[in-house]
Amino acid sequence: MAHGGSLGELRAANLALVISILEQAGPMSRADLMRRTGLSRSTVSSLVVQLLEHGALVEQVDRGTPYKGRSGRPPILLELASVTGVVAGVDVGHRHVRVALARPDSTVVQERSTSLDVDDSPRESMDRVATLLDELLAESGHTRADVRGVGLGIPGPVDHEGRMTSGILPTWRGLRPADELAERTGLTARVHNDAHLGARGELAYGAARGHRDVIYVKASTGIGAGLIVDGQLVKGATGIAGELGHVQVDVNGVMCRCGSRGCLETEVSGPKLVGLLQPAYDERLTIPRILELAESGDPGANRALNDSGRRIGRVLANIANLLNPEQVVVGGTFGAAPALLAGIRDALDRYSQPTTAAAISVLGGALGERAEVMGAIAVALDPPRMVVDR
Ligand SMILES: [Zn+2]
Repeated sequence: MAHGGSLGELRAANLALVISILEQAGPMSRADLMRRTGLSRSTVSSLVVQLLEHGALVEQVDRGTPYKGRSGRPPILLELASVTGVVAGVDVGHRHVRVALARPDSTVVQERSTSLDVDDSPRESMDRVATLLDELLAESGHTRADVRGVGLGIPGPVDHEGRMTSGILPTWRGLRPADELAERTGLTARVHNDAHLGARGELAYGAARGHRDVIYVKASTGIGAGLIVDGQLVKGATGIAGELGHVQVDVNGVMCRCGSRGCLETEVSGPKLVGLLQPAYDERLTIPRILELAESGDPGANRALNDSGRRIGRVLANIANLLNPEQVVVGGTFGAAPALLAGIRDALDRYSQPTTAAAISVLGGALGERAEVMGAIAVALDPPRMVVDR
């Protein structure tokens, strides 16, 4: 994937411009397209050729308006081809794979998730994704040829080239998940970190809809974030912005799997919470069980969730001071736990600037654990590749 003002990115931006003008203004001639876009004749001509080749545009003869052509040829209008088929969103978590199919207007037509342990085998996870995708396509009366785009979320840092970058998921390091999917399905995917996709999902379809400055926190097995600044997801120089779980909170803390020490994730995470509470309970605790206990008013579970929220919130307070967000939207397994949200709220009030804190709403994500798969659908629908990369 091109980035950073490269020729590829410029071309993508020009393609998106052409498509959006045709969407808004309807069919028009090449000359009108030149006037509307302000692009040169040769640029418009080359973009149009690409779009025609990919079936995104169709030519039609303009018989509606009189013309003065001496050659006797009526003008040709360019029109967007109606987009059919489906896009796929894929969310690969530490313990699950979720796949959804949506129409081009983003209405979900099929969705299913299955549990697994990704940390052990990325190849097995991608096998499961391929199987699930084929099942959903068959059930909805589609084939792989109907898939117009795929968004794929992975629970670890993914660089601009779609490669897994650090030791956070050791068995995935250096792998290109898009290649793994293409090998199994022949489909081209846009790959992103799962918390980035969660942010995109909540921004497009959930709690952050209509907001421009949002910190999305994914609180699950690990802790991740997607930072939305002025309506755009911040990707950073190498694509891995938002590594909230690896903000150092204790210089002398325990070693983290990322190679640093005392990261937030070494103090707060799903497994840490289980470890913290287990000695006080006779039954074998799991994350879902802890959430159940909290919901039924269990003081220990709520205290532990509240403390976790405070630890996360203390880090968020610093980020809030820098970014001045309107919302902190918490998704992932723990996003719906009121005690955790209350802890975050308290820490923001205590540790960020008073006016900064006053501007922030803290709320659970509206999409819950579906935020990532919906973000994957949003990414699959991003112009211009949805119509260009067939
Ligand atoms: Zn770390």
